[in-house]
Amino acid sequence: MFEIDKFNDRVRGLKTATEYEGKAIMWTYAYLIDNVLFDAGCVNGMSELNEYTMKKGVERVYITHTHEDHVGACSVLSKYATIFAKPQHIPSLKSPPQYSEFFVWIWGQPDPVDKITTMDDEFDVGDLLFRVIDLPGHCHDTMVGFYEEDKRWFFSADGVPVPSRKKIAMQDENVVQVLETLKMIRDMDIDVLFDSHRGPIKEPAEHIQKRIDWLTEIQINAKELHSQGLSIEEIQEKLGLKVPWYLNATDERFGVFYLIKSLLLDS
Ligand SMILES: [Zn+2]
Repeated sequence: MFEIDKFNDRVRGLKTATEYEGKAIMWTYAYLIDNVLFDAGCVNGMSELNEYTMKKGVERVYITHTHEDHVGACSVLSKYATIFAKPQHIPSLKSPPQYSEFFVWIWGQPDPVDKITTMDDEFDVGDLLFRVIDLPGHCHDTMVGFYEEDKRWFFSADGVPVPSRKKIAMQDENVVQVLETLKMIRDMDIDVLFDSHRGPIKEPAEHIQKRIDWLTEIQINAKELHSQGLSIEEIQEKLGLKVPWYLNATDERFGVFYLIKSLLLDS
């Protein structure tokens, strides 16, 4: 599926998703500013996105991280646009991991990208100047976001968890760093947070604070129970963190266990 959200004269959200019973399972946003694209959607919406970006004359694509819902169309976009990525993201763009059946259904399997250019610490889009900001925690090969100081726009990728009460994490997620990153984003001067799954969020401080409060509460309670000698499984049980319906289908990519373990043991 493919939809376009026109946010203002400059910014469009290009949404891609897999359709299920007439609805998007979950949208992922690539953002288009003039002829520059931030991230590249998922494979399962790639052909429509590609048709649109080609028509718009997209020349540059900046990648925040290499999860499959952010780089889906890179291989086709690279035929007419320059793909910019941080050095730590180049290996998995050139040789994407094979995703499990469930995630291929949800997003699709990205193809390798041959030509990638290293991203600088800042770049222009017309009169706009974007600073590249590290957002540690979400993945082992640090994600980045793009900040435009005059407009007070921040393209935060997956820096802010989608649910207000995050209960699961990926195996390689460092939730302690996610929490630190959330505090850093909260304290930035932001008018609009361009989230990769929720779309643009105006004056996002309250939205972010909710997520900080929840993760902090879980961390305090988990540490208390851990000091009493409870195992991670027992802590999960005690905290009553209900697992979402699809958790088993993720083949251990996500788990409540990883969230608690990370909050207890990572730094
Ligand atoms: Zn991600």
